[in-house]
Order: sequence, then structure tokens, then C-alpha cells
Amino acid sequence: MSIEVNKVSKYYGQQAALKEVSLSIKEGDVVGFLGPNGAGKSTLMKIICCYLSKDEGEVNVCGQNIKDNPIETKSKIGYLPEHNPLYTDMYIKEYLAFVAGIYGVSKNRIEEMISITGLEKEQHKKISQLSKGYRQRVGLAAALIHDPEVLILDEPTTGLDPNQLVEIRNLIKDSGKNKTVLLSTHIMQEVDRICNRVIIINKGQIVADKTMVQLRADNIDLESYFQDLTK
Ligand code: ADP
Ligand code: MG
Repeated sequence: MSIEVNKVSKYYGQQAALKEVSLSIKEGDVVGFLGPNGAGKSTLMKIICCYLSKDEGEVNVCGQNIKDNPIETKSKIGYLPEHNPLYTDMYIKEYLAFVAGIYGVSKNRIEEMISITGLEKEQHKKISQLSKGYRQRVGLAAALIHDPEVLILDEPTTGLDPNQLVEIRNLIKDSGKNKTVLLSTHIMQEVDRICNRVIIINKGQIVADKTMVQLRADNIDLESYFQDLTK
């Protein structure tokens, strides 16, 4: 398994943000992670990426317990956090060089990532001068620069215009080939287009976990399914 989460709980003070959450994601799965705002999606993603500690339970990434070697775990994960935190005063290349340095990857990867993520035209710009769609490309380039086995994307398409949405979605689809992807979103169509499985979380608990094949075979409409489970 690429990602194994076993009975993970997380408390913010008195509030349980995650209650004994368990899930397993196998190599190559592209999982749509759905849930209303405040359901616990970002909290679980941060825990898997070793950016936040859990209070209970175990997490394994690529067969290793994350608490045994968080640095090595991080090297296997590409993470695009919610709201894509970038250093906006940096030029694109400067920022990617900074990220490449953190992961210890060759500087050749910078040009490669600029080409893969379609940033050539804008590459001379500072991040602050980019549209939201291009900022997402920079975030994806940074998340992919070390060729991670696992890709964790927290609402990568939120706030994009319809054209940018399709472009970023295609980019995720292409770059997620041969990787395990966990992607949170509020767009049901997106799950339909790029995922082979959907997991729904509500109030810190997993309420559904199905393959898209199962959903289609059972003739389930994802939107009404989501509403029924999270109302
Ligand atoms: P989602 O990503 O699904 O919108 P989050 O994981 O961000 O949900 O949040 C889950 C719950 O935990 C929410 O009720 C949120 O307010 C709370 N929460 C998240 N981060 C913190 C924090 N740092 N301190 C206190 N409460 C938090
Ligand atoms: Mg969130």
C-alpha cells in the first residue's frame, strides 16, 4: 500500500477534527477526497505529509511508518497545500531552485518542470505577477520536482476560471500517471474525470469509500450521494 491510515484521531483542544479515521490507498490509485468545509480533509492530508502530528493511530507511507523517518517520508511525497503558499516576491525559477535545493535534486529539473507544467511563456515573471492558474502550475511544479511516489493535492483547482480548471486538471492527470494521488476537491465532475476512487469524510469520519466503477455500476449520482451522506 502507498498510504495506510489506521485509526487516526486528531484533536484541536476539545474538538476532535479526526475520529479514528482508517483508509488504505494502493499504488497508482487516484483518489478524490470529498467532504464539506471543516470535515477534516486538510488535517488528514497534513498528517500524512508529516506537517502535523496526530494524537492517536498510525500512518504508513510507501510501507514505512511516518514517525520512524519523517524526512524520508517527505522525500516520497509531493504536497500542494490548500491556498498554495508561495514566496510571491521570488521569480519562478528562483523559487523552483529553492525547492530543488531543499530536496537535493539536480538543477536540470527546474527547466524540466517549467516545460512539464507549461510555464515557459511566463518563466521570466515573479510569482506575484502570475494569474491564479499559473501560480497553481508553480505549486504543482514544486510538488513534483523530486518525482515523488505519492502526490497529495489539497483543493488544487479551487478558485480557477473554467479554462484554467481544465488545464490544471489535465496537468494533474498527466503528472499523476504512475503515482498515487490523493486530491481534495469540491467539484464532483473533477472526481469523475480524473479519479478511480472516491472517499468522503464528514465531521472527522469516513462515510464513504468506493471505486468509480462501483459508483457507476450502482448508478449512484455522486452529487446526491455526497449530499445524503453529509447533510
Ligand atoms: P477541511 O479541510 O475539510 O475543510 P480542516 O481539516 O481544515 O477541514 O478542519 C477540520 C476542523 O478542524 C474544522 O472544524 C477546523 O475549524 C478545525 N481546525 C483546523 N485547523 C485548526 C487549528 N489549527 N486549530 C483549531 N482548529 C482547527
Ligand atoms: Mg481544507
